[in-house]
Amino acid sequence: PSLFIAKERDPAESRVAGSVESVRKLKSLGFDVDVVVEAGAGMRSRVPDAEFEKAGARIGTAADAKSADVILKVRRPTAEEVTGYRSGAIVIAIMDPYGNDAAIAAMAEAGLTAFAMELMPRITRAQSMDVLSSQANLAGYQAVIDAAHEYDRALPMMMTAAGTVPAAKVFVMGAGVAGLQAIATARRLGAMVSATDVRPAAKEQVASLGAKFIAVEDEEFKAAETAGGYAKEMSKDYQAKQAALVAEHIAKQDIVITTALIPGRPAPRLVTREMLDAMKPGSVVVDLAVERGGNVEGAEAGQVVERGGVKVVGHLNVPGRIAASASLLYAKNLVTFLETMVSKETKALAVNMEDELVKATALTHGGAVVHSAFGGANG
Ligand code: NAD
Repeated sequence: PSLFIAKERDPAESRVAGSVESVRKLKSLGFDVDVVVEAGAGMRSRVPDAEFEKAGARIGTAADAKSADVILKVRRPTAEEVTGYRSGAIVIAIMDPYGNDAAIAAMAEAGLTAFAMELMPRITRAQSMDVLSSQANLAGYQAVIDAAHEYDRALPMMMTAAGTVPAAKVFVMGAGVAGLQAIATARRLGAMVSATDVRPAAKEQVASLGAKFIAVEDEEFKAAETAGGYAKEMSKDYQAKQAALVAEHIAKQDIVITTALIPGRPAPRLVTREMLDAMKPGSVVVDLAVERGGNVEGAEAGQVVERGGVKVVGHLNVPGRIAASASLLYAKNLVTFLETMVSKETKALAVNMEDELVKATALTHGGAVVHSAFGGANG
């Protein structure tokens, strides 16, 4: 088959859906594959065309997408890109499907088999294909780097002949994949770290990273985890108790990093204007949930704003701020998923629509929308 790694159309997207390693891996899967990389696709992830070529890819143009059996992308293809694909082609990307029904319908109409990587089930078998985790990990790291960049002081305690610089106090709200990485990164930089979450399981994970756990641990908290390991939306009463505890804690922090999300719901509002006002001037708040509505009141998507002397950081596409690493991991997620589609016997590309991972991620197939969340029967 022919496989096409596209150059991203969105100027805000610095990642690429391929790496030197992923091209090599594709070439070694034992099936006859022609890998074409759109010229310049890897530039912003520090992979020059020549490196892709050395790994066995051919450098092509957008027109090569027309003959591709598989198209790999970071973002959902634009309407224009879709018209450049042949009917029957497989497209794999982070599709951002919710609220984008028209774009999904257009992919169905074009006869594409479209897969949304972010719908990959979080089961052991699919761990190496889990883009939410691979990208959230890097976002958690980058959030601390961004905070350190905005913070006009050092993070570690420094004892020098000229005096002592105190360690920064960092508070991480939401201790999922991104939050745990933020905790670990802030600890490595020598900060005094605390964290909160509404899932009881997070308590032990936070402690094991050497951070202090801050939460209202009542009966509701003890029952707050869903079967899938995700957070539930908490009651108004709990939210009020949590807010009071957090308000007191936040006032003493130098850096706050928020990462809290609830699947299928807007991000919970965790930091109010009053809480920002209670922080010391020069403090920094990084809102990693800004694309999903934001955890921080007054955070602005794509901007660093000042709120009463506190810098509120709302960068978009945070994994894209560390594009070379993010692309490397994303490309690996893609290849491991593709590997499941190569028949062991015939070494041919064969999508099994009954496969658990395919069912969970396929949005469109055979001219129709197939995913149940968007009107289909699968998923
Ligand atoms: P997420 O991105 O959905 O949310 C981030 C964190 O915010 C979560 O820990 C959540 O509990 C927390 N949160 C939500 N509301 C909050 C509130 N009001 N206050 C404080 N915190 C709040 O979560 P995630 O990073 O995707 O991880 C969710 C779970 O999935 C975790 O248990 C994680 O270990 C698990 N997970 C499993 C696998 C796997 O088995 N393959 C892979 C990745 C993650």
